[in-house]
Amino acid sequence: MNLSCLLCYQASPTPVCHWCEDDMFFFEPSLHGSNLLQFGPVAGHVKHSHYDALSVLGLHTWPMSSLVHQLKFTHSLTAGKVLSNWFVHKKRQCTLSVPHVLLPVPISAWRLATRHYNQATLLCESISRELDIPINPSWAKRKGLSVQHHLSKTARAENASRVFALSEQCLDNEIRAQNRTDKRDFTVAIVDDVLTTGVTVNTLSKRLKQRYPKIRIQVWAAAFTPPPKSSLLQKG
Ligand SMILES: [Zn+2]
Repeated sequence: MNLSCLLCYQASPTPVCHWCEDDMFFFEPSLHGSNLLQFGPVAGHVKHSHYDALSVLGLHTWPMSSLVHQLKFTHSLTAGKVLSNWFVHKKRQCTLSVPHVLLPVPISAWRLATRHYNQATLLCESISRELDIPINPSWAKRKGLSVQHHLSKTARAENASRVFALSEQCLDNEIRAQNRTDKRDFTVAIVDDVLTTGVTVNTLSKRLKQRYPKIRIQVWAAAFTPPPKSSLLQKG
């Protein structure tokens, strides 16, 4: 039983109190559209040459950034649960087609060994339960020690193309099984906690489309980091 808000510690019957929730910027399908690649203030700032659609819960600004931080660095399952519940709630108003499988963005074996979990997989697990979509946690691998967040945009692109690789099996089994029952294009959702430049998900999407030219790729993220002068940061 949660008695205080994860963010402001005031008494609250829910893990995040309604005051904190009211302070968050959520993308609304009815206002910003179901596919944020058609919404300039987001699409104009993320690499998206190799995926087809983008869904994001909200902006990576306070207080959502604090919730994401708890998910990422303090292994807060509650924070992960809150974010994925909100995400699922928004998904129910979304008009994009339901993906066949969820693909968490991999973290390196080194990071997994120190952090003991992949925050993207945690998000996937609760979304998977609510929306009844299977997860493939071993579709891709991330090599090496490097982290993206302190690199420039160009350096990120070079780094991402070096560090990510699809696994040998990747989606072979899922696609084979689906082809027997369903003639729709095979659709995946790549899931990550934070979207900043989009380079990581775009690189992974490029690899997937090279290997499976006919698949449709959506990217799902909990939060988008707006550039400093983004129009999204002006409180209306
Ligand atoms: Zn609060």
